[in-house]
Amino acid sequence: MQDILWRKPIILLSITHVTRRHGWYGIRRTRSVVRLAVIACGGIVKCTILKQRETRVFLEDLADRALAIDPYLTFFWAAGSFMFGAVIGSFLNVVIHRLPAGESLVRPASKCPACGHDIRFYDNVPIVSYFILLGRCRDCGGRISWRYPLVEFLSACLCMALNLKWGITPAFAVWIAFCFAMMAVFWIDLDHMIIPDVISLNGIAVGLIAATAGLIPGMNWKLSMIGTVLGGAILFVPAIIYEQIRGVEGLGGGDIKLLAMIGSFTGIGGVMFVLFVSSLLGSISALAGIAIKGANAKTPIPFGPFLTTAAVIYVFFGPEIIDLLFAVSLRF
Ligand SMILES: [Zn+2]
Repeated sequence: MQDILWRKPIILLSITHVTRRHGWYGIRRTRSVVRLAVIACGGIVKCTILKQRETRVFLEDLADRALAIDPYLTFFWAAGSFMFGAVIGSFLNVVIHRLPAGESLVRPASKCPACGHDIRFYDNVPIVSYFILLGRCRDCGGRISWRYPLVEFLSACLCMALNLKWGITPAFAVWIAFCFAMMAVFWIDLDHMIIPDVISLNGIAVGLIAATAGLIPGMNWKLSMIGTVLGGAILFVPAIIYEQIRGVEGLGGGDIKLLAMIGSFTGIGGVMFVLFVSSLLGSISALAGIAIKGANAKTPIPFGPFLTTAAVIYVFFGPEIIDLLFAVSLRF
């Protein structure tokens, strides 16, 4: 039962505070505050009548009922996470556009890039406003980039998926921070071919602290340290070799620091996985670019988007994929 209470903290809200101590009546069918109050009063009355042994039976029953409302709670938290993610996505848009330019993230308020008019608060609702305004500024009718609602929608989905995988736990919070940092780097590197140090270097610190504090499942400070060093070193050597041979910079220092950050959150397994998957994604994209656009092998492609995409894949499926590969390889 302890486990249920921890995974679904809504049970820790006032309802269960009462029910845990005093009893539980058909909470599954409860939809209104009034009914809830009736239940709470009933619980208090019942508690005073119940003897200790009966209370234990009652608590076991409570655990069963908590499991019965589990699907509702799952839906509640998933929907809440989606909305939370959309709001963060809205902030990410600000980060993506202002951070590379060195502007403040907090002020001034968002303006229309075309006419400079402040965007009204009711026109600043994540995802929704874009469609209400049909993608145009209310003042000048200038086009609003489809990137804004896309980033908000992706953030919302990402946050909801993280919630469904991790529940409301410290790991959920850590992976939100990690994945949103990855999202910001994805777009900034795509637009400007830079990966801001303020994200990657601070990210390394956050990863090390989170792992040391035991907030990342399967990680500790040693694994985090090794991951950071490996992530920093593993791209360093090929970067130098590539530069010597081709005479152009193939991998930026930003990529090296980014992989170190990824390593601080995910350890050795994460670094190897991300390196492999991002190289795969990068190669496919480079070939596609040559085929479609006639780009040549020297056309610079930012590597950050591939590293960050692979890192997010690792958060969701990495350990499972690695286990699967091990299981398969053992058969041969
Ligand atoms: Zn405008």
